[in-house]
Amino acid sequence: MSTKRDYYEVLSVGRDATERELKKSYRKLALKYHPDKNPDNKEAEERFKEASEAYAVLSDGKKRQIYDQYGHQGLEGAGFSGAQGFDDIFSSFGDIFEDFFGFGSGRRSRSSAIRGSDLRYDLNLEFMEAAFGTEKSLSIEKAETCPTCSGSGCRPGTQPEACNYCGGTGQATRTQGFFTVSTTCPSCRGKGKTISDPCSNCSGSTQVLVEKVVSVKIPAGVDSGSRLRLTGEGEAGIGGGPFGDLYVFINVKEHEKFIRKNTDIISTIQISFIQASLGDKVKVPTLEGEETLKIPKGTQYGETFRLPGKGIPSLRGYGRGDQIIQVQIVTPMNLNKKQVALLNEFSRLESDKLKNKLKNILKGTAAS
Ligand SMILES: [Zn+2]
Ligand SMILES: [Zn+2]
Repeated sequence: MSTKRDYYEVLSVGRDATERELKKSYRKLALKYHPDKNPDNKEAEERFKEASEAYAVLSDGKKRQIYDQYGHQGLEGAGFSGAQGFDDIFSSFGDIFEDFFGFGSGRRSRSSAIRGSDLRYDLNLEFMEAAFGTEKSLSIEKAETCPTCSGSGCRPGTQPEACNYCGGTGQATRTQGFFTVSTTCPSCRGKGKTISDPCSNCSGSTQVLVEKVVSVKIPAGVDSGSRLRLTGEGEAGIGGGPFGDLYVFINVKEHEKFIRKNTDIISTIQISFIQASLGDKVKVPTLEGEETLKIPKGTQYGETFRLPGKGIPSLRGYGRGDQIIQVQIVTPMNLNKKQVALLNEFSRLESDKLKNKLKNILKGTAAS
């Protein structure tokens, strides 16, 4: 076991590699050395296993810590051994393979045409971009059919050869009692072909990673959690399989003035207790500039006003939500002498009012 290579070296990443860097590097290696793409290639299989094991350890916080401190022996001591076979690898990485490679289960279907994998892109949008829609250019790294060999995996000018093991049928037959059982050829994994002179650009894997720019129209009204599907913008299929899809997951940034609640937006205004008592007209910010809001006299703290149709357009394409404005009343500070005197006078008048009211109530009770 001492011949094991350093996991960071295997994945060609630094010791401070982030989760994202690890995944990216592993994805690259797995794409290159995946056994489906390299049938009958022991070295590729070993490299694939090695990369999978390294990723399994480094992507697990606890295992990575042990490995960083004590190395391979530490992991063995803690009872973690490397992935033993493909089934282990595929069961522990099922989700990654399905998410990013599309051949987690495709591998088991043993069909030579495999659909390209779906891709996920997390897109952050400004509040206003989400409200009114926008267009974005996304830079995406994805597997495309190798342009050098046009996806054959062979050095240009050469051809794949029929598999020696199955004679090109892709099936191996064996007799079991009275039955003849047909299974997928273990040598070519059902492809029926092997490549003896692989393409130098893709090492025979038929695909290469490329950086592509995809333009996306974001409809008005998207919100955090909205998901857009771009059919056929995922990775290229293998062996003539269709393209996967690209899923854009939306996250909307917060706005300093507006809080969104579905299609409604909520904002607050601050008014003085005088405006609240006497009523006033105030300017309020909306999604499209300022509007005048009438504050009726006697407005209380926390009261809300509604501006119909000033919210977010509905994603379904009809109607808009409302803007709800919540009132906050500000208590004046740093009063001068005259203001204090006036407020004292005001206070006196209020208590007179209260006394008169009480008197009237008492009178009323006496009368009855
Ligand atoms: Zn190629
Ligand atoms: Zn075969």
